[in-house]
Amino acid sequence: MSETIENVVIVGSGPSGWTAGLYSGRANLSPLLFAGQPHWPELLPGGQLMTTTEVENYPGFENGILGPDLMEIMRKQAERYGCRVIGEDIVEVDFNQRPAVLKDGAGNEHRAWTVIIATGARPKRLGIPGETEFFGGKGVSSCAVCDGAFYKEKVCCITGGGDSAMEEALYLTHHASKVYVIHRREELRASKIMQQRAFENSKIEFVWNSIPIEVVGENSVNGVRVRHVQTNEEKVIPISGFFLAIGHIPNTGFVHDKVALHGSGYIRVDEHQHCLNPKNPAEVIEGVYAAGDCHDHSWRQAVTAAGFGCMAALSAERYLAVIDDQVKRASINQNAAKA
Ligand code: NAP
Repeated sequence: MSETIENVVIVGSGPSGWTAGLYSGRANLSPLLFAGQPHWPELLPGGQLMTTTEVENYPGFENGILGPDLMEIMRKQAERYGCRVIGEDIVEVDFNQRPAVLKDGAGNEHRAWTVIIATGARPKRLGIPGETEFFGGKGVSSCAVCDGAFYKEKVCCITGGGDSAMEEALYLTHHASKVYVIHRREELRASKIMQQRAFENSKIEFVWNSIPIEVVGENSVNGVRVRHVQTNEEKVIPISGFFLAIGHIPNTGFVHDKVALHGSGYIRVDEHQHCLNPKNPAEVIEGVYAAGDCHDHSWRQAVTAAGFGCMAALSAERYLAVIDDQVKRASINQNAAKA
């Protein structure tokens, strides 16, 4: 185990992680950020923006910016203010100890007074042929708000029957000439109001009781092969954009029993981004915060994730200011006695 006790350890390298790194760097806290190992295509250092092309809704970039470029700029900006980076995953944590103990994927242990979990979420995938091949700029996307504008007057489809699918289908109609909603049942999960809006939109056509079984194309997508779940009949629908809205999975497996989670796996936080005690969610875990899509299942935008990263870093900074040297020493002695 490293002798050093870090002021701030940040886990994750998406917009929330880099923003937390920037803020705690500028506060002279010399943060240590674990950027993660690449696990293509689900999980990449840099997060979901690494598989996005043009980002046109991140403020400050009048002409848009490529997702990976935005992440590179954020990284450099955080590093400029002293954020140190290790390209490993964090695989284990112990928040019962003060300072907290974190083990990385290379087997090294680190101690930290504060920890910011910013590991994001990953879109669920269907696992069908063509889905990975055309992902990220070649016609397959899991974010209509990010990529919809590339399908002006084109035909798209979206898979899913929840609120996200309806919201994204409606968003796509601002650009696309037609949007198929492919759903595996003949009843939607989405709220009634979203259903009604989708039903009333003349550009949306529902393909009921069907599942996509292949994304078809050469250099880019030109169709989707669907199978009717009752008749097994197959057909290819010509499309240019294949969108997925079958839910997200928060990347919280490594803390599943260390912090309180919602049933869907998102981290529960208070209004200062504190994580909560899994055994007693009325209690916060001192010094441990979550930021971005790993806790936020509502907004899920790069700019909101960055905002949460900022809040978590400011909360960590305030906490570090109130725990004086005496508290830090007492914790070290306590841990030494336990060992
Ligand atoms: P969701 O409600 O879990 O819906 C996922 C949809 O994908 C379901 O219709 C499901 O089908 C379908 N699906 C899942 N796995 C599939 C598979 N392997 N193959 C084919 N279809 C599959 O997820 P969500 O729409 O992302 O919403 C998540 C939460 O955020 C919800 O609570 C939602 O209300 C909320 N939300 C709210 C808004 C809003 O209020 N504006 C917008 C977005 C999200 P089945 O229905 O058959 O299970």
